[in-house]
Amino acid sequence: MSETLSEPLSEPLSDSLTTSATEALAENPPATPAPSPSRAPIRSVISPGRYVQGVGALERLAEYLTPIGDNPLLLADDQVWGFVGPAIEASLVAGGLPVQREKFNGVPTAAEVDRLVSVIRDSGANVIVGVGGGSTIDAAKASGFLAGIRWVSVPTVASTDAPTSALAVIYTPDGEFEEYRFFPRNPDLVLVDSQLVANAPAAFLAAGVGDALATWLEARATQRSNSTTMAGGLPTLTGTALAKLSWEVIWENALPALDAVRDHIVTPAVEKLIEANTLLSGLGFESGGLAAAHAIHNGLTAAPQTHGLSHGQKVNIGSITQLILEGAPTEEIRDFIVFTTKVGLPTTLTEIGLSVDDDDELSAVAAAATVPGETIHNMPFEVRAEDVVAALKSIERFSRRVREEAGLAAPVLHVPRHH
Ligand SMILES: [Zn+2]
Repeated sequence: MSETLSEPLSEPLSDSLTTSATEALAENPPATPAPSPSRAPIRSVISPGRYVQGVGALERLAEYLTPIGDNPLLLADDQVWGFVGPAIEASLVAGGLPVQREKFNGVPTAAEVDRLVSVIRDSGANVIVGVGGGSTIDAAKASGFLAGIRWVSVPTVASTDAPTSALAVIYTPDGEFEEYRFFPRNPDLVLVDSQLVANAPAAFLAAGVGDALATWLEARATQRSNSTTMAGGLPTLTGTALAKLSWEVIWENALPALDAVRDHIVTPAVEKLIEANTLLSGLGFESGGLAAAHAIHNGLTAAPQTHGLSHGQKVNIGSITQLILEGAPTEEIRDFIVFTTKVGLPTTLTEIGLSVDDDDELSAVAAAATVPGETIHNMPFEVRAEDVVAALKSIERFSRRVREEAGLAAPVLHVPRHH
């Protein structure tokens, strides 16, 4: 797989809200404007036009692509194309569609997006198909939008809920966050081949679980505080309910699904988990709202010790921290720690390269997580930086105790990868 779990850019780009997200939202508002003081608030749900998932779905790509565009441009990096290219080519040829593939250069920079816009114009394509991880898919969305054509997501892993959303993250050539771009619509099609997901290392699917579990915790908080979602407007019953369904499906299916994927087998549990990670979590985060867990994730990127971890791994620490900030019932926090440890996600500071003695880093994390405009302010109570530091520090001892009592392994220190 080209989407190395530890690559910062393989994180689910579309939902890693950072300090500039609110500014970006103000500059590039989604199709539905945010409620203004002079108007009654609106509620909104946005979604992709069609979602397709199943073993061998890739073989039917042409069938679903044809109603959207008869001249597709496929965007994939060399590694992804190496293992999905033949199946895609066979499908398009059988469906009477031309096969044009452009190599994605690995980082969704403004320059790469502009280059792709030129490629689209020269090719005469009327739909761009992003094949791969979040970076590729975001570049396809951003260039398709600028070129005035339609866009489609073909994720090859289920580690992110980026494929369904109507936003993309643009990076600098060095891989630092640059800006959010919001689009007036979601992808026209999201097509997931379950066998492809099962062929990838199980760690990708586990990361997707970390991201997707946060979706319900954050949607629940957004509902309680009646805050604005990424879709613009207040949360709907629909967005919130899908976030909750994602949570329930994961608790029921994640452990057997991960075991099946370790043997590259697709079972009904695997199918359910892929849908929860990709579609339910995608709709749930975008139309249900983000809150503390993702803001803390964003804050954690300020600590170099966390580099090399996937988005979903850092989000899981954000989820535990949010539960502590909420004063959630001890049993609920304990269950969450036990479950996500079994999934293979970090539940201690140690596992994200930090310790309770890293005061400077933890303060920086908390400061970044609580800047004005961060989604932590969607919590139904005020959250200060010092509250975040205390909650983060409290995780270490409590989680170690919970794990010990549950007979689970002690945490292993994460050593950041040097670039
Ligand atoms: Zn996320």
